[in-house]
Amino acid sequence: MTFVACKVKSANPYIIVGQGLAGTILAHHFWEAGIPFKIWDSPSTHFTSSQAAGGIFNPVTGRKLEQTWLADELFPYLFDYYPRLEAILGTRFFFSMPLFRPFANEEMKSWLVERKEQIHHSYLCWESNGVWVEQAGWVDVVTLLRVSRAYFASKGLLVESEYTGNQAIFCEGFHGQQNPLWSSLPFLPAKGELMEIRSDVPSEDYILNKNGFIVPLGSRHFKVGATYGWKEFTNETTPEALEELTNKLALMGVEDFELVQQKTGIRPATQDRRPFVGFHSEKEAGIFNGFGSKGVSLMPYFAKQWTDEILGKSTVHPEVSIRRFYHLFSV
Ligand SMILES: Cc1cc2nc3c(=O)[nH]c(=O)nc-3n(C[C@H](O)[C@H](O)[C@H](O)COP(=O)(O)OP(=O)(O)OC[C@H]3O[C@@H](n4cnc5c(N)ncnc54)[C@H](O)[C@@H]3O)c2cc1C
Repeated sequence: MTFVACKVKSANPYIIVGQGLAGTILAHHFWEAGIPFKIWDSPSTHFTSSQAAGGIFNPVTGRKLEQTWLADELFPYLFDYYPRLEAILGTRFFFSMPLFRPFANEEMKSWLVERKEQIHHSYLCWESNGVWVEQAGWVDVVTLLRVSRAYFASKGLLVESEYTGNQAIFCEGFHGQQNPLWSSLPFLPAKGELMEIRSDVPSEDYILNKNGFIVPLGSRHFKVGATYGWKEFTNETTPEALEELTNKLALMGVEDFELVQQKTGIRPATQDRRPFVGFHSEKEAGIFNGFGSKGVSLMPYFAKQWTDEILGKSTVHPEVSIRRFYHLFSV
């Protein structure tokens, strides 16, 4: 806690460890707020899972078409934030786009349609064969990270090296669970694989989401995802995932395609499905991690909340604040 006051008052730069999506979004918020920092990143020793992200933001979740947690707060902020960042970086990476969820089968269709009045909310638009989800889309995370890296480097804020110290804000993604400072936290990482394909079959006008997703990238290229695995956490792609993705694609009506590339990463998920945000109770260290499979929609909102907390303007949501795990640090 002294870390907060002392670092801000003395204007010593914070060290942000990791230029995945989490570190990148946090660093942009610090820059905008005038909080000094340097960002360290070492993809050659610690692979960057954000490079494999599907990048989708979607305010609807689950078979019962519920709104995602805090959707009414997260989505207005991200719709304001990413276009603003595009303007700062002079590059397009935010693609607002409708998302279509066909009903899984006739039984599910009847179940949902019978309960339409209870289920309906402002993000849904019902069709005879499925629902359209509004305020969905995708972020080209690879482009966002590349242009941000160049932006921070041009300002002398990027250190391309592994960080081995303890006094920093750690945005290490799944690698965070190997860091002794944070290893007692309930991480629950999940490996994910996706493929990029070329095909003439899917629509380029919307994201298709049926037990998987097809995201149009333009020029008849698409991202297809994603798998979930909890057995091993390497950054190797696997033939099993390729087969699973090919089957998902077939179930979404696409059998004719060329594989462009297969990618893998580890989602830094947590047991209570909430991120870890804030300062350690015992050490001069902070964490911005645990964003699981929803980094694109959660990170901007909570980067803003934490930045405001550091400036003494507000506090981080209690379900996200690392304070909920302070009892683990004093053992
Ligand atoms: C297949 C797949 C599909 C996904 N699809 C979506 C999606 O559609 N929508 C969505 O919102 N999310 C999605 N996600 C999840 C999303 O990718 C993650 O939430 C997000 O990328 C996590 O970012 P991060 O910055 O926390 O971690 P990472 O991207 O892993 O970044 C961590 C960074 O820290 C660096 N680092 C770590 N330790 C050190 C150290 N000691 N010194 C220096 N550098 C260090 C690493 O080099 C790395 O660059 C998907 C994930 C996968 C795997």
